Amino acid sequence: MQHQNYTVTELAQILNSQTKLIDGQVVIKYLAIDSRSVLVPEHSLFFALSSHRDGHDFITDAYAKQIRNFVITKPDYVEQYPDCNFILVENALTALQTLAAHHRKQFTLKTIGITGSNGKTIVKEWLYQLLATDFNIVRSPKSYNSQVGVPLSVWQIDAENNLGIFEAGISSVNEMQTLAEIIEPEIGILTNINEAHAEGFPSKKEKLIEKLKLFKNADLLIYSPEYTNELVVNELPGKRKFSWSSKQGADLRIIAVEPLEDKCSLRAIYQDVEIECTLPFKDKASIENGIICWATLLAIGYTPAQSNLRLEKLSHVSMRLELKNGINQCSIIDDSYSADISSLAIALDFLNQQNQHPKKTVILSELFETGRSDQDLYTEIADLLKQKKVNRLIGIGAHLSKYASLFNLETQFFDDTNAFVTAFPSIQFSHETILVKGARRFEFARISKLLTQKIHDTVLEIDLNAMVNNLQFYRSKIKSGVKIMAMVKAFSYGSGSFEIANLLQFHKVDYLAVAYADEGIALRKAGITLPIMVMSPEESAFEAIIKHHLEPEIYSIEILNAFVNALSNQTNYPIHIKIDSGMHRLGFDEAELDQLIDLLKGNDNIKVESIFSHLVASGESQHDEYSQQQISTFKIIANRLIEILGYKPLLHISNTSGISRWPDAQMDMVRLGIGLYGFDAAISNNPSLQTTMVLKTTVTQVKTLNAGETVGYSRKGVMPNGGKIATVKIGYADGYNRAFGNGVGKMLINGQLVPTIGSICMDMTMLDVSNLDVQPGDEAIVFNQEHSIVDLAAEINTIPYEILTNISQRVKRVYFYE
Ligand SMILES: *Cc1c(COP(=O)(O)O)cnc(C)c1O
Repeated sequence: MQHQNYTVTELAQILNSQTKLIDGQVVIKYLAIDSRSVLVPEHSLFFALSSHRDGHDFITDAYAKQIRNFVITKPDYVEQYPDCNFILVENALTALQTLAAHHRKQFTLKTIGITGSNGKTIVKEWLYQLLATDFNIVRSPKSYNSQVGVPLSVWQIDAENNLGIFEAGISSVNEMQTLAEIIEPEIGILTNINEAHAEGFPSKKEKLIEKLKLFKNADLLIYSPEYTNELVVNELPGKRKFSWSSKQGADLRIIAVEPLEDKCSLRAIYQDVEIECTLPFKDKASIENGIICWATLLAIGYTPAQSNLRLEKLSHVSMRLELKNGINQCSIIDDSYSADISSLAIALDFLNQQNQHPKKTVILSELFETGRSDQDLYTEIADLLKQKKVNRLIGIGAHLSKYASLFNLETQFFDDTNAFVTAFPSIQFSHETILVKGARRFEFARISKLLTQKIHDTVLEIDLNAMVNNLQFYRSKIKSGVKIMAMVKAFSYGSGSFEIANLLQFHKVDYLAVAYADEGIALRKAGITLPIMVMSPEESAFEAIIKHHLEPEIYSIEILNAFVNALSNQTNYPIHIKIDSGMHRLGFDEAELDQLIDLLKGNDNIKVESIFSHLVASGESQHDEYSQQQISTFKIIANRLIEILGYKPLLHISNTSGISRWPDAQMDMVRLGIGLYGFDAAISNNPSLQTTMVLKTTVTQVKTLNAGETVGYSRKGVMPNGGKIATVKIGYADGYNRAFGNGVGKMLINGQLVPTIGSICMDMTMLDVSNLDVQPGDEAIVFNQEHSIVDLAAEINTIPYEILTNISQRVKRVYFYE
């Protein structure tokens, strides 16, 4: 991803490959795998990797972005692009890995390799925080730990670095060997091993053995015997070993963990002496990650006193961008992760992906990038801002303002965050998307607080990466050439409107569908250019539909006549014909066909863009015969229409559950709805589908009740033996159904499921938290991955669709993206 000076010819020699070079002297600094997020195209080498899609399909796109250097496996492209450099290989992923391994061997820096089931990224980021004063560190960006992520991480090493911290993650056997050869860690950290993600491995022992292959040649292994009891110590890699545990004998033997107000104090026995440290966190996962960092500091020679001084200053790591509503109709993208140029590029891409406001502002602090001059760095940043079409830069830091002349856009500079905060009331922010990105010491949290609307204590968090994952999952299920219409009706099943549509547009779905015209209009106003089908086009909205180029679903003769009348002199206006093949809701049935044909024949006002129908039970095997019947009825009707139209519209019938269960009914397009949001009745518990939404609220007050006291309206909640209740800030007006009352619904507090008590109120709910340590301000999770929407739906006898779409608009949506 970064600065190294290999020529294309040298890289081809390292790969020992055939080439077709126009200019072999071109210097390659960046390895690119995604044509959409390329930093400096003239120094980038694009790898046509194949995963969900064939990477060669993106060559056109990469070429349009000015990339001229490619690693490919299919020689036909050489002819198509005569002005490009091509390196021809057997396997593009292997080529990427080979280059990274070669690059790694050019340096003798100390390296820490981290693997394990959880905590890899946090431990990596914390070690970076802990060691940055003593080393010039290169580390994996975000959680780049895969077969692709590791080579990209290692490629960043340059001569200035004296420590590399890299994480490695695997999902099946035989993957670690490759990563070990690329990272060659001198120090190994095994964070933990859990039961999850065991799919790719025959047993837990096998998983452990595979992960430990990363440390085959390591000098030092840091681990906990709690996670390695399938093996004896002698079977563990590492010339030297350093163990930690709170349950059994270890080099760092934790003897007490004491939670304090917002931190926790740890005591341990180390070299026969009692030592202690304070961590500024108190949740279980952070404590374990903190202990791993403590063990690492001690194992590499820091004293207990030095370690404690550093550990107590650790700060929260957020690896995700947050998109939220701001003041004056702005959208705020908050990225407090890290302040280097590659993360800036990722954030700028995300800024570009969100088109809802024409104006784009970046608030940026000084950046630090080792091994290059500031002149160089800020020139590149200025290029990047220009290339990503940013309109305004607000620069913070005295040093940054010295380079003001490099930036060719509207700018304003402040010496420090305080100066910005003071000037804030006089700076205009309105109807724009604002990216807030600053190095930690600039404390940009203060800035995003000023810009953000007050976040209520009940939020629906939407994980955009999970949504992209789900989209790719369904892409992998459809046949090549089949298009995707993404269903974003009902506020994208409750998750948002333009935020989701922008994401889908960026990830190149073919069509969007909404229920009503005003949903479509809102998307057009937010810059969505994809074709949009409107499923219930009201006659009163025809004018607006035409003005915003929305495409109506035509389900009756009346609506067809009315729409044709509303068109003035347009020709070939796209419409979608809905056939009733058995749902008996909307659509033409066989009897109306002749009349429909008469109207369509020779009418050049309209063009039938697609013909479609809807399956009533695509996911339920007991109705398979009916589904089969629907599919054939649809085909017969559609074919009759096609015959008289003289051209072939797109045919589609499959919704989410139809995609995997009825591969032969994918036709020209599928309509992907709830699967995008992580549910599929046909394939429940499929680990490839990820949870996209988490609904959380906050405890307002905790009360202790005496025996016999009651809770809430009509004295419904009875506590015969007394106990403790917590009141949380969500009620039926937020979409938390009254049916959840009186113990039917449950929420998670501090990892424990607790039942509701009494009736659900309009804005509040009471939970029975007897025997639980709960404080006002604690988080209560209504649903997440563990306590899923499927469970909630089952509790009150409904379906996930209803739970999702009931979440009211007053619940704030916050979007996360890495
Ligand atoms: C909502 C809807 C879909 C999507 O259904 P899912 O089960 O959510 O995939 C598809 N087609 C039509 C006509 C719909 O109304």
